[in-house]
Amino acid sequence: MHILVVEDEAKIAAFVQQGLEETGYHVTVARDGEAGLLEAQFNNYDLVILDVMLPKLDGIAVARKLRAARKATPILMLTARDSEKDKILGLDVGADDYLTKPFSFGEFLARVRALLRRDTLTRASVMQVGDLEVDTAARRVRRGGQDVELSAREYALLEYLVHHAGQVVTRDLLAENVWSDTDVESNVIDVYIRYLRQKIDAPFGTPLLHTVRGLGYTLRSP
Ligand code: CA
Repeated sequence: MHILVVEDEAKIAAFVQQGLEETGYHVTVARDGEAGLLEAQFNNYDLVILDVMLPKLDGIAVARKLRAARKATPILMLTARDSEKDKILGLDVGADDYLTKPFSFGEFLARVRALLRRDTLTRASVMQVGDLEVDTAARRVRRGGQDVELSAREYALLEYLVHHAGQVVTRDLLAENVWSDTDVESNVIDVYIRYLRQKIDAPFGTPLLHTVRGLGYTLRSP
């Protein structure tokens, strides 16, 4: 587990780094908001500890920019004792939790562990076929690291196919499970399959969604 600590106060940074390293985590420290943002954006940390009051770019701006860049690394925000505003702002811009200074290491470690555990659970909801990722908790689809926007029906169709990846799925099964209507016309299903292909396959070259003639469809890794 690799944790990024963005904190300009040397004493606090050292206290947090030492404690985390003794606990067995790998730690990198960034001393200002700009350096922290670069580190977090272009590396895959498991958690970011982010102070609000930072030189160059404050913690709120760092969190906002990370989320705008679709970086989902969990963020634990460190706020000053009486800044209720920072806590609310921090959560609004996408921090996952906050801790008020001063704090004990035990309290801090409990938050760190909870966030890392929560992130592991969320990650388990991501299903993968080749370079296609379907996050069933967030209802987000990515292929080759790029977001793919789907309509609700397209998403439902894809989710069903992903759950049955590698198997042949008949139109009857799709009608029943995606449309909840066994009378839906099979050409409607074909139309949605075509929409889905245009979004998840066409831009990426290698098709994952295949027609199994006379039977139905299958989604499988190349
Ligand atoms: Ca600070």
